Amino acid sequence: MITNKQLADLIFPEITETIDDLEKRYPERNLPEGAEVTRFAPSPTGFLHTGSLFTSLVCHKVASQSKGVFYVRLEDTDTKREIAGSGEELLKQMHIFGIDPDEGYLGDHEEGKYGPYIQSKRADIYKTVIKQLLVDGKAYPCFCTSEDLEELRKEQESKKLNPGYYGEFAKCRNLTNEEKYERIKNGDKFVIRFRSSGNHENKITVTDLIKGTFDIAQNDQDIVIYKSDGLPTYHFAHACDDHFMRTTTVIRGEEWVASLPIHVELFEALGWKAPNYAHLPVIMKVDEETGNKRKLSKRKDKEAAVSFFIEDGYLPKSLIMYLMTIANSNFEEWILANKFEGMENFEFSFKKMNNEGALFDMGKLNFFARELLAKLNKDEISALAYEYAKLYNPELKAAIEYNPAYFTAIMNIDREKANPRKDYEKFGHILDFIGFFYEERYQNIIKEPLPFNEKFSKEALIEALSAIKEKLHVNQDEQIWFNELKEIGVSLGYAANNKDYKANPEAYKGNIGDLAEILRITLTGRKNAPNLCAVMYVLGLEETHRRIDEVISSLK
Ligand code: GLU
Repeated sequence: MITNKQLADLIFPEITETIDDLEKRYPERNLPEGAEVTRFAPSPTGFLHTGSLFTSLVCHKVASQSKGVFYVRLEDTDTKREIAGSGEELLKQMHIFGIDPDEGYLGDHEEGKYGPYIQSKRADIYKTVIKQLLVDGKAYPCFCTSEDLEELRKEQESKKLNPGYYGEFAKCRNLTNEEKYERIKNGDKFVIRFRSSGNHENKITVTDLIKGTFDIAQNDQDIVIYKSDGLPTYHFAHACDDHFMRTTTVIRGEEWVASLPIHVELFEALGWKAPNYAHLPVIMKVDEETGNKRKLSKRKDKEAAVSFFIEDGYLPKSLIMYLMTIANSNFEEWILANKFEGMENFEFSFKKMNNEGALFDMGKLNFFARELLAKLNKDEISALAYEYAKLYNPELKAAIEYNPAYFTAIMNIDREKANPRKDYEKFGHILDFIGFFYEERYQNIIKEPLPFNEKFSKEALIEALSAIKEKLHVNQDEQIWFNELKEIGVSLGYAANNKDYKANPEAYKGNIGDLAEILRITLTGRKNAPNLCAVMYVLGLEETHRRIDEVISSLK
């Protein structure tokens, strides 16, 4: 007669350690009361998704505010889907967003006493636990082929039964140890399944830190815990790793709620205390075509990948701040009251998290982005723009390198004051606002017809521009500059203010605003541009005159 132990030794002859040995190697963490241990557990299957950045942000916040530990575990057991190098890339991108783990898989190395933190390096740990489950009769080898499973699926479908490997359909459950032993000795391919003792008709009560307490059907599936490639499945690795890494709070996407009964049963079978769970709502958007809400899609939505925000030149902090507004409904008010500073002092709470899928709101992100860029001084914004440009924007890089001081002067327009301009939300579109300062772009702009008000004849435009060229000085003092412009206007027959003009429009050529617009269009090609006095100051008198001459000759 073959015992469970003999069978387990046949399957895992190399495993000599026990679960007790593992418990000793990975003792309870010695942390202050209330400290939470959280983990971010990405699979190296591609770029960092905005939803994953959101998860890692919450994990990081919960650990840091409780003086706990935030670690990263690389979940690479799905070898078919793995993309080489993507694990390292994920960590680099998290770092850009200021999310650095305290321990775990750090991209190019690992740190911490609870490792290895890469699942494919933990095979012996999983095998040790599975070996014990085999000995206890809570797991068994299953030899069913994919054809067997397909047949089973068809049979269940025709009988309108729940699909899956459970109860009477779990054929390999009932094999004798002798049969199993023989087949393994024969070299038959097998997986290992967990022997569920649940019943789908029964409900269990589970608690989620966001969703609260609710009932859900018990698991009755004999799920695969060990694949024929020698690696565990997600469910089993989750139980093992979060137990031995001493995670207190599992924070993960909502798509895992449905598997909770499996996880609860696994923890029970192993005699381990399950961690707390928080299942985060998915990030959605309104589909442009259908008008319906749907999950952010890797294929369709540029904002689904955090690389988009990096390459477009958003300040990483603006996305993080925006994501925090999704995480906690009271955050927006808090950060406005705190003038967009000291985000680390905000007290995050699962209770303040919206349970419904949150809508990704580009408009709100842009609001944060503009506020944060407006708070930088001229040197800070210039340095960050250059860092960005070097990596992602050759045209901006060339513009900055052409004359760094000139670029900083442009960045300084209407900055460093109580109410700075908030034109820019990202470095990627800065040149759309300030491109006119640069010759090549300016030439392209004035190639097109300029948007002068049609009420002015060419002669009137030339007269106005000639007078400005002759009399207007460059000045840093906006008031003095404006008074000068006004005097010029009055001498030409423009009203000094809008009130006079409105009262008697026939008496004037236009008002002072019209004159300023003529100059603005001449220097920038646009009706809307930053502070004209400052634009002229930065361009300098010589360049101002050159542009006036150029426009005058194009009018002739
Ligand atoms: N590797 C899993 C995923 O990427 C992790 C889920 C979890 O956090 O437990 O979805």
